[in-house]
Amino acid sequence: MNTPLKATAVPTALAIRQFVDTHILPQAAQMDQEQEIPRALFTEMAAEGLTGLAIPEKYGGTAVDYATLGAIHEELGRGYASVQNACTVFGMVCKPLARFGSEAQKHKWLPAIAGGEVIPAIAITEPMVGSDIAKLETEAVQEDGQIILNGRKKYITLGQIADVFLVFARLNGRGVAVLVERGTAGLQINPMRGLMGLRANMIAELTFEHCSVPVENLVGKIGFGFTHVANYALDEGRYTTACGSVGLAQACLEQSIHYASERVQFGEPLRKHQLVQKMLSEMITGSKAARELCAAAGRLREQGDPAAITETLVAKYHASKAAVHAADHALQIHGASGCMSGCPVERFYRDAKIMEIIEGTSQMHELQIARNFRL
Ligand SMILES: Cc1cc2nc3c(=O)[nH]c(=O)nc-3n(C[C@H](O)[C@H](O)[C@H](O)COP(=O)(O)OP(=O)(O)OC[C@H]3O[C@@H](n4cnc5c(N)ncnc54)[C@H](O)[C@@H]3O)c2cc1C
Repeated sequence: MNTPLKATAVPTALAIRQFVDTHILPQAAQMDQEQEIPRALFTEMAAEGLTGLAIPEKYGGTAVDYATLGAIHEELGRGYASVQNACTVFGMVCKPLARFGSEAQKHKWLPAIAGGEVIPAIAITEPMVGSDIAKLETEAVQEDGQIILNGRKKYITLGQIADVFLVFARLNGRGVAVLVERGTAGLQINPMRGLMGLRANMIAELTFEHCSVPVENLVGKIGFGFTHVANYALDEGRYTTACGSVGLAQACLEQSIHYASERVQFGEPLRKHQLVQKMLSEMITGSKAARELCAAAGRLREQGDPAAITETLVAKYHASKAAVHAADHALQIHGASGCMSGCPVERFYRDAKIMEIIEGTSQMHELQIARNFRL
């Protein structure tokens, strides 16, 4: 793609809608097939301000308010879920870095990430530890001004191409977050292929074998790794994943209305059949309800209201389910043609299910929502 780069703009939902239509939608199927987001697209996204959404202006970012952030992620989710999720990862690294990082870390990493020169990744999940992050096994030892890491991480989005990893480990039993640069001795990166959905996430397995980084790479205090840094990152990730799920549900709806208008059976377009209308109506109400829950969470987040955490859990829980439900109906409406690779709804169906797993599974959301309501 030879689009000339603009100076970084402060993104609006409308500008991103146009960017999605011209730069993301036309290559979504190819990215899914090749299991890759081209590096050039990150450069173009940086020019649109998309890589700096969670970064304060002071550090070269385009930090937008939560309503705009949500609307932008909805547009990205409508375009292609893997690109939307990549932006979620940018937020999950940059937001905690901007809050808990040292000035030196912020100056070193945030402008470069906003500019698209550096791609970040967040490494929490391990082969033996998924939902129960308090039990992470990756071990950190502090020695002679260095943090030495040993352990493994799995399913790390953008891991195949990331330049810096925000890694979570245990130091003397206490949670820590550490920045590890690609190329650090002792860090091995193994690409993982064959994902069902979000296939262009470029996930990788990371192995740390006596991987040593300066103690200055710790993000936040020792002991704050899980309780503060990881939880802050996950809370941010849940919000943008919720909004991305709304976009995916919307894409299912738009594609289904289009198909149901063109395809004629029993002498009438599918959309005139009441049972098809029922599915379309459910998709409309499901996505509208999810959008409203995201908006409510966004308002509370903007106000810094502590209730935002629960509202975000509720929004992510519902929106990811709405996306799965919409993708299910979309495939049904498309019949056999929806089962063919290359048909957008076949991809939506695969992508939607992943939304119920990342940034906390639906079951973890159910448990946490119940806990927050003191049930
Ligand atoms: C496409 C993709 C991208 C990802 N990107 C990243 C990334 O960038 N960084 C990262 O760190 N991780 C990433 N992950 C990993 C993801 O965060 C984990 O898959 C998720 O946290 C769930 O962990 P798990 O898969 O190990 O499932 P498990 O925790 O093993 O759970 C398996 C099942 O059991 C259920 N379950 C577990 N405990 C309970 C319980 N107490 N009660 C009821 N049910 C329970 C779960 O809900 C789930 O259904 C990614 C995963 C995918 C698929």
